[in-house]
Amino acid sequence: MEAKNWVAGEWMIPNGGSYVVNNPSRLSEEVGVVHTSEEADVITAAEAARRALPGWAGLAGSKRADLLYKAADLLAARADEVAVLASREMGKPIGEMKGEVVRGVNLLRYYAAEGVRAVGSVIPASQEGVLQYTKRVPLGVVGVITPWNFPVAIPIWKMAPALICGNTVVWKPAEFASLTASAVAQVFADAGLPPGVLNLVVGDGAVVGQALVEHAAVAAISFTGSTTTGMRVATICAGRNMKYQTEMGGKNAAVVLADADLSVAIPAVVSGAFRSAGQKCTATSRIIVEKSIYEPFVDALSAAVRELYVGDALDPKTYLGPVASKSQYSKVQSYVDLARSEASLIVEGELQVSPDTGYYVRPLVVTGMDVGHVLAQEEVFGPLACILTADGFDEAVEHCNRTVYGLSASVFTRNLERAMRFLDAAEAGMVRVNLESAGVEYQAPFGGMKQSSSHTREQGQAALDFYSQVKTCAVYYGA
Ligand code: NDP
Repeated sequence: MEAKNWVAGEWMIPNGGSYVVNNPSRLSEEVGVVHTSEEADVITAAEAARRALPGWAGLAGSKRADLLYKAADLLAARADEVAVLASREMGKPIGEMKGEVVRGVNLLRYYAAEGVRAVGSVIPASQEGVLQYTKRVPLGVVGVITPWNFPVAIPIWKMAPALICGNTVVWKPAEFASLTASAVAQVFADAGLPPGVLNLVVGDGAVVGQALVEHAAVAAISFTGSTTTGMRVATICAGRNMKYQTEMGGKNAAVVLADADLSVAIPAVVSGAFRSAGQKCTATSRIIVEKSIYEPFVDALSAAVRELYVGDALDPKTYLGPVASKSQYSKVQSYVDLARSEASLIVEGELQVSPDTGYYVRPLVVTGMDVGHVLAQEEVFGPLACILTADGFDEAVEHCNRTVYGLSASVFTRNLERAMRFLDAAEAGMVRVNLESAGVEYQAPFGGMKQSSSHTREQGQAALDFYSQVKTCAVYYGA
């Protein structure tokens, strides 16, 4: 398997060098080779997208829809193959990865259906004989920069709405998901997308991503990744007066109140904290427990964590696999070391594989830190959760909101009034009751408050607002 560029309808090997990708579950296994691009490849891709724009934007929405439906069918037919490749490339357990590919198929079908839906509204004019209406039109060439943690779903939830709105795309995937990106681009190629409508440019973020944001002739950027990079992207886009959306980090809390049903709360907290080895922007990384149930909660949580199966991403028994890469392993391990020296251990899970075979991190729950401690404030993006305690509802909400992030938050309670007050008070873009902090569905808006996002939303109908602009039209046809 090779990751290369798909530009102007042609597959081509860029000249920026190449490197071998090893399976994070089994480091001795080679998965494929990634060929990296240079700035000139990005400029060429943006030019190809610019040339393809009039034809694509001018196509009837139903015809754009047909191509997205075709891509959905092809992805569904290749679901297992794509899921296995992604699991081998970035370590997501195969069951979760298959679910992600199905989400990709659903997203393609959801946005395909938009090809025959209304794109505006009629607004009464004050003058007789005037038809006044709005019409959503494409932005132009859109740059899409995606992370490695959802290597299929995130690119599709950006590109499908961009394409159905009539934009053309230059896509820069994460370095650690470039092989999967090539398989996804192949799906669009085989669906018959016209040359230049979607262009894939693989390579280093600091070269390819930076060139896309800073130098390429694009009208907008959609980015998901770290807060540091996202803020840089936003600054450059603002300087170029380009439309942008940045989906960045989270430090999501699950608040467990004294009246919670622990048979609901425990599996949801475990899933939120440890699925995908905690590498989700919506992962639960702070568990805020009302003091009166601290002991039974901790006992039940510890028992559940000890049961977790940590193994090879392709082993169907695996609940959490390795973290995605060496850099991710070093980063997570530095937080684990900090937790060992500055916090109290609640429970640590077991590995069912030898730690030397891959980038495995044992699931870990700690407590004993202040709400302002680094472990309770910084995004770890690994299988490490910390427990904070609260005297009651008000203090739990205060702890929940004591973060610069505002992506998602959950509360576990059987009290309707407290549930509703939490939905009002939690400073997060996605707020859930008796459900884990991750798992927002594709047809609903996704995004955060505060430093988690650029105050825009992805998915659902909200994505159509980002990938289009409104024209207000007026026609005098005679009184
Ligand atoms: P980055 O923010 O660096 O990467 C996200 C995307 O941006 C990748 O495609 C990356 O390319 C690209 N990129 C990197 N530098 C630039 C740049 N200067 N200009 C434009 N694009 C750029 O995140 P990492 O993958 O390095 O992960 C680091 C941390 O970020 C994680 O540990 C986690 O905390 C957080 N993260 C959060 C995510 C989320 O969903 N909120 C997703 C992924 C990471 P390349 O991969 O080639 O560097």
